[in-house]
Amino acid sequence: MASIELVSGDITTQKVDAIVNAANSGLLGGGGVDGAIHRAAGRDLYEECLRLPEGPYGRCPTGECVVTGAGRLPCKKVIHTVGPVYGSRENDAALLGNCYRNSLLAAGALGFESIAFPNISTGVYNYPKDEAARVAISAVRETLPQTPSIKRVLFVCFGSENYSIYEKLMGGNALDI
Ligand code: ADP
Repeated sequence: MASIELVSGDITTQKVDAIVNAANSGLLGGGGVDGAIHRAAGRDLYEECLRLPEGPYGRCPTGECVVTGAGRLPCKKVIHTVGPVYGSRENDAALLGNCYRNSLLAAGALGFESIAFPNISTGVYNYPKDEAARVAISAVRETLPQTPSIKRVLFVCFGSENYSIYEKLMGGNALDI
């Protein structure tokens, strides 16, 4: 059994095995949660990202993920994923679902017990918060049976708006799966 927990606050301080970064395909940092993670992790994370191979879609295509070390962060790994820029393609929901699914599968493959997600794409990528939360919750619920090592999944909401949306959809601040 696993629990999905709702947390209000900063993802960089979460005591979990892995935190997920809502990155851009360059993977070299940016604004929002990406900037906060790079600032807190320090130079080692940036340099590790710089060494990652670049393909036609940068270092990480939309919906995929890449695992790195965590520098000075309290977690073991950072899982960088790239959410869709809302409205730029037709399959936004599928791509956003892939971010959650692939990140969870990557954490499961490492045998991790806990993972924290930010509200991917709901900042500068402009995904409507309510729709994004529905996609996030269902992708996590659907993937958890394939990741038996994962016991805790945290949705870390930076603002009260996302927190209230998740609380309503989850019927409270925790959900046992
Ligand atoms: P995206 O480009 O995927 O939209 P953003 O970083 O702009 O990424 O926003 C994604 C979400 O991360 C937003 O809901 C934003 O409020 C949230 N966020 C920003 N900073 C932090 C942080 N330190 N911890 C957790 N969430 C954060």
